[in-house]
Amino acid sequence: MSAPAFVSDVGKVLIDFDFAPAARRLAKKCPHPAETVLSLFDSIKGPYEDGRIDDEEFVREGIRLTGFTGTAEEFITIWCEIFTENLPMKASLTSIAGKVPMYLLSNTSGLHKDYFWRTYGIFEPFTDGVYSHEAKCSKPGEEIFRHTIEQFDLDPARTFYVDDLLPNIETASRLGFRTFHYSFAKHPEFEAALAEWRAEQGIG
Ligand SMILES: [Mg+2]
Repeated sequence: MSAPAFVSDVGKVLIDFDFAPAARRLAKKCPHPAETVLSLFDSIKGPYEDGRIDDEEFVREGIRLTGFTGTAEEFITIWCEIFTENLPMKASLTSIAGKVPMYLLSNTSGLHKDYFWRTYGIFEPFTDGVYSHEAKCSKPGEEIFRHTIEQFDLDPARTFYVDDLLPNIETASRLGFRTFHYSFAKHPEFEAALAEWRAEQGIG
């Protein structure tokens, strides 16, 4: 029987994100205003997160679609500097770090994944993850959850899954995971639910 495990979404759970600063910085180097520049990414964001286009093509197309006049490196920096760490979550996770395997399950892209892994300490206790752009499928579909169960040999009944999006929680619940529908405002409830789960699973 598989041991208990903890699986977490990334955005709006471990790190917050806000594209507004990126919009303002892009607008300074292209002919579009901050208010509309992000909509120019609509046609490539989905394919990028699903792994149908790679980092290089995303950057090239992003620069072309916006008419960005800076370098590719500047574009990447602007695209990635949108996150802030969830410090209460970072503190809560110390209660299970090193005691249960911890994994990520995220709809993300290569640039963002590489950036958040190397930038934020909250990811340190996580050993591995499944990412939409690599798995070529995304939440809330069941396929990426099944892939995660298989890859990490999870027993959903003994696995705590946290996500901020209800459709993702619904899929996880249907597959038998212990779930928590997270928001920053509900952090104290998350902490209580995690403590209850730890007690049930005999995690010291
Ligand atoms: Mg999220």
